[in-house]
Amino acid sequence: MNLTKEASRPYGEDVSLLDENPMADVMAGDMTLRDVAPSGKVHEVHGEFRGGAREMHEARDEIRGVRDIIDRHLDGPVGAVGTAGAVGTAGTVGGSVTPFRRRIRRATGVAKPDRAAAQRAVAELLTALGRDPSGEHLADTPRRVADALIELITPKEFDLTTFPNDEGYDDMVVEVGIPIHSLCEHHMLPFLGVAHIAYIPGERILGISKLARVAEMFARDLQVQERLTAQIADWLDENLQPRGVGVVIEAEHMCQSLRGVKAAGTKTVTSALRGALRTDGRSRDEFLSLARTACR
Ligand SMILES: [Zn+2]
Repeated sequence: MNLTKEASRPYGEDVSLLDENPMADVMAGDMTLRDVAPSGKVHEVHGEFRGGAREMHEARDEIRGVRDIIDRHLDGPVGAVGTAGAVGTAGTVGGSVTPFRRRIRRATGVAKPDRAAAQRAVAELLTALGRDPSGEHLADTPRRVADALIELITPKEFDLTTFPNDEGYDDMVVEVGIPIHSLCEHHMLPFLGVAHIAYIPGERILGISKLARVAEMFARDLQVQERLTAQIADWLDENLQPRGVGVVIEAEHMCQSLRGVKAAGTKTVTSALRGALRTDGRSRDEFLSLARTACR
């Protein structure tokens, strides 16, 4: 896939600057994103872009994601796709789509982590384990452990972008092999694996990179795999109101691989199906067999 960016003023040298300061608002200006789809069709999106590198990368991912969906499944002219940021649309290949964005935060329902208290507790844990937390090598460990744990259980907020399903696209949209990691709430050890997520669009299509964001939002928590799987499915069901949702997660749990039964390489597979992906046998089988193939 080729992607070229053109701007009314060149910003190539600004990109590294933006990466250091992702929220810098120095990229305002006219911009054209030109993207060649796998089918060879060229998509162009013109508009005014305002935002930092993060917004630009998100906009690019969304153009690609939604474009791929439309490109794969529709013959003839492909609609141009609007992007994140305040971007107008005008396609060389006709059509335009207005994106809808909103900021997503997961309400955790638990107290905000107390970093200082967590550091003290890690130092105490080291002492309880017979180690000297003031020793040369462990001196900074309480801070590192506390920060790592807080990061792993704190969900990132993101902008959810959806697009009207004007083309009436009604086949399954599937994203397989989304890397996922979480912390098992029984041992506070990681479990790692992949998620496969599918939905059958209703009135709106989701920017495809957002499926991974939704999964990550719930993975950053003390979790059990079954609940994580169900939370992703329920959230998509409620917020996207698709005709069906399917989520399969396969993961290896360090608490099983490294200790106890030491079943290294064993994977736990969980699934959650909603709507037509639960009730329609053909859709369900199609999704599950795609997920199975992706597992290998
Ligand atoms: Zn565990």
